[in-house]
Order: sequence, then C-alpha cells, then structure tokens
Amino acid sequence: MSTLTAADADRNTVGWNFDNTYARLPEVFFVPAIPATLKEPRVSILNHRLARELGLNFDALSPQAAAELFAGQKLSEPFQPIAQAYAGHQYGHFTMLGDGRAILLGEHRTPSGRLVDIQLKGAGRTRFSRGGDGRAALGPMLREYIISEAMAGLGIPTTRSLAVVTTGEPVFRTSALRGAILTRVAASHIRVGTFAYLGARQDEENLRVLADYTIERHYPELADISQKYLEFLRAVIDRQAALIAQWQQVGFIHGVMNTDNMAISGETIDYGPCAFMNAYHPGTVFSSIDQHGRYAYGNQPAIAQWNLARFAEALLPLLDRDEKQAIDLATGVLHEFPTMFEEYWLNGMRKKLGLETSEPGDMKIVQSLLDWMEQAQADFNGTFRDLSLDELPDRDLYRTQSFQAWYAQWQQRFAHNARSAVSARGAMRAVNPAIIPRNHLVEAALAAAEQHHDLSPTHRLLEALTRPFDAQTELARTQTPPPADTNYRTYCGT
Ligand code: AMP
Ligand code: MG
Repeated sequence: MSTLTAADADRNTVGWNFDNTYARLPEVFFVPAIPATLKEPRVSILNHRLARELGLNFDALSPQAAAELFAGQKLSEPFQPIAQAYAGHQYGHFTMLGDGRAILLGEHRTPSGRLVDIQLKGAGRTRFSRGGDGRAALGPMLREYIISEAMAGLGIPTTRSLAVVTTGEPVFRTSALRGAILTRVAASHIRVGTFAYLGARQDEENLRVLADYTIERHYPELADISQKYLEFLRAVIDRQAALIAQWQQVGFIHGVMNTDNMAISGETIDYGPCAFMNAYHPGTVFSSIDQHGRYAYGNQPAIAQWNLARFAEALLPLLDRDEKQAIDLATGVLHEFPTMFEEYWLNGMRKKLGLETSEPGDMKIVQSLLDWMEQAQADFNGTFRDLSLDELPDRDLYRTQSFQAWYAQWQQRFAHNARSAVSARGAMRAVNPAIIPRNHLVEAALAAAEQHHDLSPTHRLLEALTRPFDAQTELARTQTPPPADTNYRTYCGT
C-alpha cells in the first residue's frame, strides 16, 4: 500500500473529479510523458475564480503543494500524463507535430458535468519535442493567462488559465529568461491537426475512433443521426464561423492560425503572438514572424475557411466510400462558411451598433463606418464604445464632415428601433467593451512580473478584464492607445 504524503493529502482537498478518457484511446493518439523534475517551483498566479467555476478549491493547498501540483511534480493517481499526437499546417506547410512542451494530465469533470482538459504547458520535453527544450518562459505564459482570461471576460469561447508557476530554472531564448508552466483548461485539445495527423497516416479506423470520440465530447446531439460525419463537419464549420466573427468584433488578432492551433471544440486556443488591434485597419499584423501578413486581422475569416478545408480533407474517408462523392459533400458544406460567417458577423455588428432589427441596408452602414475608421485611423474598440455612450465624446475626429455624414445615417437607422435610444445604448454598452487588454498595459504587467517579481499590475489588469463592459473600473481611463502603437510587435516565445 502506498503511503499518503502531506502533498497528496493537500491535493485531495482540491476536489478533482478526474477521468482519463483521452489516455484510453488507442496508442497512436498519444505517448506517455513525464513532466521534468524541478527543484524549486513557485506559484506565480492562481485563478481562484476559475477554480470555483470548476468545482475546485485551492484554499487548503500550501504554497508549496500548489507549486508542485501545477509544476506536475510527484504526480500519482488520478493523473495520467501524456503528450498528444497531432500534425499541423504551419504557415501553409504540413508538419507532424504533437505536444512538444505540453503535457495533458487528464480530464476533470466539473460539478455541472462538463469534462475539461487539464494541461501543463512548458512542463518539459516529450517524444514530440523535436529540437525544442520543452520549456516556456514566464512572459509568454502570463501573456496567455491574461489574454485568455480577457477573452473569457468578453464572452468569447476560449481555453482558460488556471495557474502559472515559475520553474526556478532559466530558459534560453535570445537571452536567459525565467522558466514557467501554465496550467491550461480546455474543453479539449483536439485540433484540426489531430484529424490531419490520422489523415496523413491514412489510418481510417482511428480516424473514425477520433471522430466518434470528438462527437461524443463536443457534439453529442449528432451521435445518432444519419450522415453524422457530414453534420459534424458542418457543426465544426458553424462554430468556427461564430468564433471568428466574435474575434473580428473585438479586434482580436490570433497571430498564428496554423491548423494545429484551431480547436474542434470551437474555443480560441494557443495564445502566442496574439494582440488586440487599436486603430482599425484590416491589414493589421503584430506577429514578428508573420512577414507576409498571412494571419492579418482581415484575413482571419479566409484563413479559418482554409483550415476548415484541411479538416474536411482529413474527414473525407468518413464522408463517403466514393472519393468523388465525399469531395462533393465536403465542398458543399465548406462553401457554406462565408454565408455562416457573414451572418454571425453582421448580426454581431448590428448589436454593436444598437440595431434591433435587420434591414437590407445594414451591411452598408457597417461597412461605411469601417471605411471611415480606416481612413480616420480611428481606434476600433474605442469608437464602438464612444457610440454606445449617451453623449458622443467631444473629439476632433467626430467633428469631421465624413464622420458626421455617417453618424446622421446611423441615427436615422437607429430610430427604427422599437426600444428607446437610452435602452438601445445600454444594450450597446453590454457588447462594446470599455476595457480590452491594450498592448501597453499587457507589456507593463509582464515587465513588472518578469523584472521585479511584482504581480500586482497583472492582478489589477485581470480584475478589470473580468468586467470589460464596466467603465467604472480604474483601468477604463487608461484605454487610450499610445500613438506609436503601429510598430508594436509580438513574439511567439517558443
Ligand atoms: P505553437 O507555435 O506554440 O503552436 O507550437 C507549435 C509546435 O511546436 C507544437 O508542437 C509545440 O508543442 C512545439 N513547441 C513549441 N515550443 C516548443 C519548445 N520550447 N519545446 C518543444 N516543442 C515546442
Ligand atoms: Mg500550437
């Protein structure tokens, strides 16, 4: 019989309700993986609010037990650590990948019955690490923590961040940085690239296993219908159309929409060089390695469709025995993407502009606002928030003739609402954030954490980002973007 250590006893109070469904899949899906042994892991930040939502409680964990837990130290039952196998089109080029620095501990079932992956990112080398060190630096892990929690606050489907611990060991990038591990919570980590992996191996049997597993986990309503794989494809396309529309509506730029970074669950996943756009411009790119703007703001819908085409390709063997017939079916559904996207997008834009009903001219009103914003270099989120206020702020750019012309048109259209203007503006403020994780705020928070071990700016930022539609918080006053933001660059940090 094994003896219960103090750390185990602490861990038992956390309230894990663990299962390891992925680890029970056939062997091609993963390899066992053991997190690297660390001498001195330390908690940097714990997400108590998320823990409560998941039915977990860290209050009884000593700081040391928490650090060991989220560093994957001394793992025992119920954790069954694995690295998942997958492939991916990176900047268009197909590669066999797999978790090179992420280790899945298994799945936790929440009190409401939801099954969520608990994954440690930066936990050490796995069989898929290739040349990499399996590690991550504190800055990028805190960045993922902040931005993913901001997305959750905005109501956008996303993986979540439960903890960041520092490893006490340096990681070497262009300089030596403090190593860290992020605990990521996700509906699952099944990606377009997971399907592409089996597709590339021409492993039809396991492709079906994966499709059935994914349907059961994310689309259970499709389990017993005829043509379920085709409907599965359609449902995945639909969720991505909805997701990307939401990204566009807050100016979120993912930065590295490779097919291994597109989750079948429809959650935003793998925050690397992502950032929020300030001045509206469809060509906005922040990522230093995205030199041709493949993943620019305005390209995100088209790239999503391209990625979904790779997903459809992988699914072909399940769609029909006859390849030509399978291609026809897949192509038909893929062609629905632009219409789905546009509908989600336009409906979202109507909400942002406080329009209750739909009218044929709505697209034109939205587009001419965007055209004006582009020409005026107006701040994307700031403009929508200003329009939501009971009185438009007195600013030069709103006094221009070009803006006034648009504004008069909008006011006319706005008057078609049945509800009062005051209530329509209230509804607008509930969808147009007062607070987004502005690049300079994120950088300042990360710098304080990295250089001075000071997490207080991060906590303050996170506090505001959980209530992004509430202008009363202190941070609402700091939302003016710095003027020289066009040169802002983000880095993968891998
Ligand atoms: P990403 O750009 O974060 O989506 O990562 C792409 C691939 O590279 C994934 O397979 C990662 O697991 C792998 N990877 C990224 N950074 C590292 C690293 N430091 N060590 C090993 N593998 C890595
Ligand atoms: Mg990735």
